[in-house]
Amino acid sequence: MLKGKSALVTGSTSGIGLAIARALAAQGANVTINGFGDKADIEKERGGIEKEFGVKAVYSAADMTKPAEIAEMVHTAEKTFGSVDVLVNNAGVQFVAPIEEFPIEKWDQIIAINLSAAFHAVRAAVPGMKSRKWGRIINTASAHSLVASPFKVAYVSAKHGLAGLTKTVALEVATFGITCNCISPGYVWTPLVEKQIPDTAKARGMTEEQVKRDVLLAAQPTKEFVTVDEVADLALYLCSDAAKAITGANLSIDGGWTAE
Ligand code: NAD
Repeated sequence: MLKGKSALVTGSTSGIGLAIARALAAQGANVTINGFGDKADIEKERGGIEKEFGVKAVYSAADMTKPAEIAEMVHTAEKTFGSVDVLVNNAGVQFVAPIEEFPIEKWDQIIAINLSAAFHAVRAAVPGMKSRKWGRIINTASAHSLVASPFKVAYVSAKHGLAGLTKTVALEVATFGITCNCISPGYVWTPLVEKQIPDTAKARGMTEEQVKRDVLLAAQPTKEFVTVDEVADLALYLCSDAAKAITGANLSIDGGWTAE
């Protein structure tokens, strides 16, 4: 489905981003992966994608808090593969604390990575997509782009902002064969969720087991975590021709969370 196309997935050294990058490569796209982590582990993932799917995969170490590095990553991907046809803005971080104790630098970091990075990447990738009259922009938002939870002020604000960015971009590129959507997962079992459990336990005065049962899965009527592969399949669908009329949408994949 994506043979000859090139995809760039931010925050794809782990979790949802890695699953999306692998799914796009499985459909024949050359991929740029990005994110932090152990160098040897990243190289193993990159090489594994090439071997398993017979595509080219490159790694960009661009830091999503740095606008110049983001633009450079997009331009390098264009130079390497001739285009960026699919852009997935997925990098994200979380921090949990009551607002009066919320560290200012954590607010700035979360807004930069979870919201501003998407602006910088879309800004750099859209001219090429417009010239080729085809593009798919997918932003990993969250159920927290639609509803709030206490103690996540920066994350909820950034994800609501990302939903607004998605709609605005969709309108601007609608006549150029480009779609722009966001995917809003509920709780997906990844390092991002695992790492917030101790702080949530502290903020709510609960044990870690209680947080899993009474906070995380309590939000999801299915009582199950969403899987990274389910999110990746939705991203793939958005890249298909069948999805060309879906744009500016915020697609929930949250086990019913935001239906309540
Ligand atoms: P994760 O921690 O497994 O992955 C996050 C990725 O972002 C990693 O590759 C990490 O290296 C990268 N990253 C972090 N800071 C970066 C920076 N400054 N520059 C470049 N890359 C950076 O988490 P995940 O759960 O897979 O999250 C991926 C996206 O999904 C995030 O946007 C997150 O908000 C969103 N999301 C996750 C869940 C969930 O329950 N896991 C639910 C809804 C939305």
